[in-house]
Amino acid sequence: MSTPFWGPDFDALQSFDPEISDVILGELERLRGGLQLIASENLTSPAVLAALGSTLSNKYAEGYPGRRYYGGCAEVDKAENIGIERAKELFGAEHANLQPHSGASANLAVYGAFLQPGDNVLAMSLPHGGHLTHGAKVNFSGKWFNPIPYSVREDNELIDYDQVRDLAKQHQPKMIIAGATAYPRLIDFAAFREIADEVGAILMVDAAHFIGLVAGKAIPSPVPYADVVSFTTHKVLRGPRGGMIVCREEHAKAIDKAVFPFSQGGPQMHSVAAKAVALKEAASADYQAYAQQVVANAGALAKGLEAEGMRPVSGGTDTHLALIDLRPVGVTGAEAEARSDAAKITLNKNAIPYDPQKPMIASGIRIGSPCLTTQGMTESEMADVAKLISRAVRAELGTTDGDAELAKVAEQVTELVTRFPAYPR
Ligand SMILES: *Cc1c(COP(=O)(O)O)cnc(C)c1O
Repeated sequence: MSTPFWGPDFDALQSFDPEISDVILGELERLRGGLQLIASENLTSPAVLAALGSTLSNKYAEGYPGRRYYGGCAEVDKAENIGIERAKELFGAEHANLQPHSGASANLAVYGAFLQPGDNVLAMSLPHGGHLTHGAKVNFSGKWFNPIPYSVREDNELIDYDQVRDLAKQHQPKMIIAGATAYPRLIDFAAFREIADEVGAILMVDAAHFIGLVAGKAIPSPVPYADVVSFTTHKVLRGPRGGMIVCREEHAKAIDKAVFPFSQGGPQMHSVAAKAVALKEAASADYQAYAQQVVANAGALAKGLEAEGMRPVSGGTDTHLALIDLRPVGVTGAEAEARSDAAKITLNKNAIPYDPQKPMIASGIRIGSPCLTTQGMTESEMADVAKLISRAVRAELGTTDGDAELAKVAEQVTELVTRFPAYPR
């Protein structure tokens, strides 16, 4: 079958550059051969990959549709306009910007739209699940702004809204950020709105992790409450690697200017087109069923691990991810990550709230269900996966018995992914 499409020619790559084509094939085999439990990853569709591998990558299109600094933008204008309309429709938003190159770039633009260097920003404490761009000392957010961290309560490990209000009143932040990278529960956006209104702050929701669940109507949307919602397109949403911002019409100009020309140059039009494709996929009934299943699977995984003697932080999850405290089984997060890796289970160590360990060791792991759910697994497989994780985490890497056990777990992983393949052959 021939189509007019001029796109990825893997045979040509393989004969020209075997070193890089081997990496690409090796990565595909890694994806196919193991269980992907990184909560921020997913497996994009062939349609998204086709848009990413298109000649739209060549086009310079600084500016916005109809207002470009380059000629020849008629076709890419259509792609961006289609994507903007799809984003507005899907999220019920007044304005959308598809150009941010990543979640961090989207966040830089939001800071740029509303703040001046030195301004106070109230955001979730990093050790409690906040993101690098929410005030880490090594990041622009911590170097150029004045982050004030809020926490989760020590007793129930949920966001302490009373503390958020007290800190807001005390520090009068210009902006409040809701959203996190390792918080398994729903966030009370109405409560954040109320607090922001009490102190006259902009409410930014960083929905990078969970926007896909919002798109699939599996959890409540922050869009009606927030001034601005930034997110990534490659996590649960299952689009290309990239960022996006939706906001109220009153902020549209400020946001657009903050993306370009304040913080970025030319948009990556292949990625903008791929974002449009992902938004079309996310508006489908199939995707809604997927999003529901992602949440059900994360819950089943957390329950399964609890039954194996581990402790889900906050008692469980309402989303696509769970944080698991491994102290009850006497294993650190770093050990668990290495042991799981040896059994073809990919997950990450993660600090838990009030963690006594250093971040590079950590007392917990973070696990997510987006990839396994894309592969078609449901709750019954999650029960099996929990048992496999438990066996891997308890097996001592580098000992005869431990290595033998990890090899056995890896065999069962192979059996499972043969039944539920990623990128079926
Ligand atoms: C992943 C994430 C980001 C950043 O996304 P990148 O594309 O890696 O820059 C920002 N905020 C939160 C809460 C995230 O989880």
